[in-house]
Amino acid sequence: MIKQPTLYRPNWVEINLGNARQNIRSIAKHLSPGAKIMPVIKDNAYGHGSVEFAKALLKEKSVWGFGVASLEEAVTLRDNGINSPVLLLGAFYPFDYLKDALKYKVTPTITSVKALRHYSKFANKAGRTGRFHLKVDTGMGRIGLRPGELDGFIEKLRAHKNLVMEGVFTHFSSADSSGDHTKFQIREFGKVIEDIKKAGLNSVLFHAANSAGIMKFHEAHFSLVRPGLAIYGLLPFADSQKYVATKPILSWKTRIADIRYIPKGMPVSYSRTFITKRDSLIAVLPAGYGDGYNRLLSNRGYVKVGNKTAPVAGRVTMDLTMVDVTGLRNVKVGDEVTLLGSGVSAEDIAGLCSTISYEITCNINSRVPRIYSGETC
Ligand SMILES: *Cc1c(COP(=O)(O)O)cnc(C)c1O
Repeated sequence: MIKQPTLYRPNWVEINLGNARQNIRSIAKHLSPGAKIMPVIKDNAYGHGSVEFAKALLKEKSVWGFGVASLEEAVTLRDNGINSPVLLLGAFYPFDYLKDALKYKVTPTITSVKALRHYSKFANKAGRTGRFHLKVDTGMGRIGLRPGELDGFIEKLRAHKNLVMEGVFTHFSSADSSGDHTKFQIREFGKVIEDIKKAGLNSVLFHAANSAGIMKFHEAHFSLVRPGLAIYGLLPFADSQKYVATKPILSWKTRIADIRYIPKGMPVSYSRTFITKRDSLIAVLPAGYGDGYNRLLSNRGYVKVGNKTAPVAGRVTMDLTMVDVTGLRNVKVGDEVTLLGSGVSAEDIAGLCSTISYEITCNINSRVPRIYSGETC
């Protein structure tokens, strides 16, 4: 049982790290022989807590190291004693961050000859060897060297004796939806791999697959895979559980602060978008868009009180949300309410907000404490 937190304002997230580790094991079982896992823990592990995740997941032998979005995120891991490989998935300008990447032993992604030159200069000054991964754009159209620029890049790389290209990777744009485009990207990446091997560059780690890619394209496992979503028990596509069964790990909870009698024909919340159709019981929840409870859930979302469903009544406000509990039996002030989790899936809530599950957990604000269980499974 998870220890109930003592909070002045009951609004918290429970996270089961044991289930996260089991999700890693389920992914590992699905992988081609030899492939290892680079869990993607950017944006504070999609809102789940990057330090806690890194510490828990490092207990799994299949984990190689982590992928993050920025040097700031990587430094947070280093400051908390995480010494495993950390790859910066993003590439930035100005290039000065490459200097501190060396200092913190964080592996940057390089996407141009210009960045290579700067990195080499910083490595030289620091008297260090600069490891990096090269990103190639095979059809995402975001960051990365174009495959046509590869030969020129390798030629320039040979001149920088203080740099080591530890990895080469690409990123799928549509592994959850388009088999054809993903297969095209895999073919393009295959040519990149051939070119690199022909150039005599050995022991390079190749990686491409995000969660959907891992599930649907075995041929894309290469040396490493980069799951985000699947670790968090979120579903990259509707029937993804058939490919890799993952367990949910996050529940967002609150407690009913008040239950108000509102007579028929009266408004609830800002701008009177909800008018009671009957004499009503309206529960007030200490959760709002200031916590990351999306305002698009106004008059659209729902919560669970025990196993009963209560619809959101009126506008979600910054700190409070009202739900209609008229006719629900035995509902009382202080009852635990599930905003997200069992019976309220991130996929469903995302659908109501016309977005994706990623955004739902990423948006849970830092003022909502995260409470962890299952660390020692
Ligand atoms: C976010 C990200 C991932 C993880 O994607 P999921 O769909 O969450 O598995 C993998 N690789 C890169 C480069 C990313 O930016």
